[in-house]
Amino acid sequence: MPLSPEQQAEIDELRATPQPTLRAVSPGMEQHLYKAYDVLDHGFIRVIDYMGDDAAITQAARVSYGKGTKSVSNDEGLIRYLMRHWHSTPFEMCEIKLHVKLPVFVARQWIRHRTANVNEYSARYSILDREFYIPAPDHLAAQSTVNNQGRGAALQGEEAARVLEILKTDSTRAYDNYEAMISQDDQQGLARELARMNLPANIYTQWYWKVDLHNLFHFLRLRADAHAQYEIRVYADAICEVVKDWVPFAYAAFEDYRMGGANLSAKAIDCVKRMLAGEEVTQESSGMSKGEWREFEGALGTPKPV
Ligand SMILES: Cc1cc2nc3c(=O)[nH]c(=O)nc-3n(C[C@H](O)[C@H](O)[C@H](O)COP(=O)(O)OP(=O)(O)OC[C@H]3O[C@@H](n4cnc5c(N)ncnc54)[C@H](O)[C@@H]3O)c2cc1C
Repeated sequence: MPLSPEQQAEIDELRATPQPTLRAVSPGMEQHLYKAYDVLDHGFIRVIDYMGDDAAITQAARVSYGKGTKSVSNDEGLIRYLMRHWHSTPFEMCEIKLHVKLPVFVARQWIRHRTANVNEYSARYSILDREFYIPAPDHLAAQSTVNNQGRGAALQGEEAARVLEILKTDSTRAYDNYEAMISQDDQQGLARELARMNLPANIYTQWYWKVDLHNLFHFLRLRADAHAQYEIRVYADAICEVVKDWVPFAYAAFEDYRMGGANLSAKAIDCVKRMLAGEEVTQESSGMSKGEWREFEGALGTPKPV
């Protein structure tokens, strides 16, 4: 169950009691505030709080640019300019605080993003819920044969059933043993901080995660990308949907320059120039490695010869 009845009641109460404020409010974000969006089988993201909007970014930028911003006609244009030129500090003026419920193995990837503030559910004080991530059958994929860090087609038939059974049985047995170890029925009960070490990495944890918009974009650039593992990508995708409504100009610039854009090396730009001049450039004559050339072709969408 992604949300407990207590959590749902808290959300309902918070949404039923709006407060007047003099602070900047993003109408798009207000519709998301406190609501939980399901991710994976038991997880969710929900916005607990936020600070700033598109105007907060341009307001901060105008401190540095002053009269110079007259050359940039509107907020959208200024935000695009800032994003294009990696002028990142104005984006740090906006902040978001999320409550996230996620499997421990996803949390291990997520926590690598150090430029955030985190407070996690304590399995020293509290007892973890009996909730494990079990992939949907179409995500129960085989090891990729071309990418050591990726997955191939979904397992089929008996093999899929066998793997699912192993995942479910091991999770159940580990949790049963966890309960048995901390049980105090006529015994002392092992400390929770020790009993948890026997639980598998697909058990769910929860945390509050606060980050500024610049570093959130960095996280989304890496984790909403096709190369990210599916199980963290779905969280990043859910956050993208919220950010799109929170700061629409900044998000559109991010989509354009970061998610949809590509960095070209000096060699790659030279190849583009030669191609535009009519030269037929190949990987061998490009000066790029095979991997670089493949990515370059991918970025340009260069048609393969038939
Ligand atoms: C597809 C993919 C595969 C990955 N594979 C692996 C893997 O196999 N093994 C592995 O260990 N990790 C792996 N990672 C994690 C990756 O190496 C980064 O740790 C992670 O993406 C966080 O990025 P970051 O450090 O830029 O983010 P943040 O920690 O949020 O930092 C943001 C930026 O702040 C600056 N910064 C923050 N802290 C410091 C510091 N202490 N010193 C200097 N600059 C700092 C850097 O410029 C950094 O880019 C992978 C990530 C992805 C997306």
